[in-house]
Amino acid sequence: MESDRGVGVLSGRALAAWLLGTSLVRVILRLLFTKQAPGLAKFRENYDADGLAPVTEDERETMTQYSGCIACGRCDVGESARIAESDGQYPGLMQLVLASTRSMPDYDAAARGFSFVPEDVLRSKVARCPARIPFAELAAFVRAKAPAEPPGIAAIEEATEKQAF
Ligand code: SF4
Repeated sequence: MESDRGVGVLSGRALAAWLLGTSLVRVILRLLFTKQAPGLAKFRENYDADGLAPVTEDERETMTQYSGCIACGRCDVGESARIAESDGQYPGLMQLVLASTRSMPDYDAAARGFSFVPEDVLRSKVARCPARIPFAELAAFVRAKAPAEPPGIAAIEEATEKQAF
C-alpha cells in the first residue's frame, strides 16, 4: 500500500499496528501540548443551554434524600390558600417534590413554586412527611441550581431573529 506517510512497505496487521501506534502518539502529544478546557468549563459549555447545572459529590449524595416521596399528599394539607393565591405558579408541595424537582431544566418553575411557601412552613412539614423529605433544603437546592432563564429560550430568540430578516 502506498501513502504519503511512508508506510508503503507495510500491509495487513503491521500496517494497522503502525497506524494505531502513530495515532496514539499523536493523541498523547496533543494532550500534552494543547491547553484543555477544564472539565467543569466544558460541562457548562455543553449543558448550560439545556438548563443542567453541575453538582458536587456531596450534593449528589444529598439528592437521594429528595426522591423518597410516596405521594401521600400530607404535605399539601393547609396549602390550598397559597395554591389559589399563586395563580397557577404553586401547584402544592407534593407536586413540587414529585415532578418539578426531578428534572433540573424545570427548576426555575419549581423555585417559583417554592417561593410561595415560607421557610418555617417548609421546615414544619418534615415531621408530617412519611418520607421525611427535607423541604427547606430541597427548596434551597432547587433555587441554587435553577437555570437563569428557561432552557431553549436562547434558541427560540435566535430563531425569531432569523425569521425577522
Ligand atoms: S408528605 Fe412527603 S411523601 Fe407525602 S406527598 Fe408530601 S413529600 Fe411526598
